[in-house]
Amino acid sequence: MDYFSDHISKLIGELEKLPGIGPKSASRLAFHIIDMPVEDVEALASSLTDARKNIKLCKTCFTITDEDECRICRSSHRDHSTIMVVETTRDLAAYEKTGKYNGVYHVLHGAISPMLGIGPGDIKLKELVARLKGDVKEVIIATNSSLEGETTAMYISKLIKPAGIKVSRIASGVPVGGDLECIDEVTLLRALEGRVEI
Ligand code: ZN
Repeated sequence: MDYFSDHISKLIGELEKLPGIGPKSASRLAFHIIDMPVEDVEALASSLTDARKNIKLCKTCFTITDEDECRICRSSHRDHSTIMVVETTRDLAAYEKTGKYNGVYHVLHGAISPMLGIGPGDIKLKELVARLKGDVKEVIIATNSSLEGETTAMYISKLIKPAGIKVSRIASGVPVGGDLECIDEVTLLRALEGRVEI
């Protein structure tokens, strides 16, 4: 699109790179931003840069945190012998929102996808295996019910089983192809409570 200003064309171009933002939304946001007070725009810009530059991955569970180890991993109130394996930090957040899960997590940062060329070495799997040397009683696999999520679940179960640790999979109450993040809390809890040993 041809705009009167190269600056706004560039801004629209940058916004369009974000997920879920098409040309129309990008244009709407760009025109909104240029109408905002300069200090608000500066606050927005610096929060983007700060978040990108300062966020770390927890050294234990690999969720996003500001410190070396996240609050969940540091908490003495959590059951560290139960590890729930999720694909993303957003999935972790969905389970945390239910307030009913008291174990700890392991964030894989993706799922195995032969189609996309993502193999076991591309996600945080060996880091999970390393954690199993500790006092772990159960690993709950809460990857999505997509093909990739199921492939990853199967791979993990085969990997862990020989260690004699209980491995369970969240119930199929989670719709096939469903993104954990978009599922309501009741469904998530039902999936967790109805988990089956695999
Ligand atoms: Zn952690």
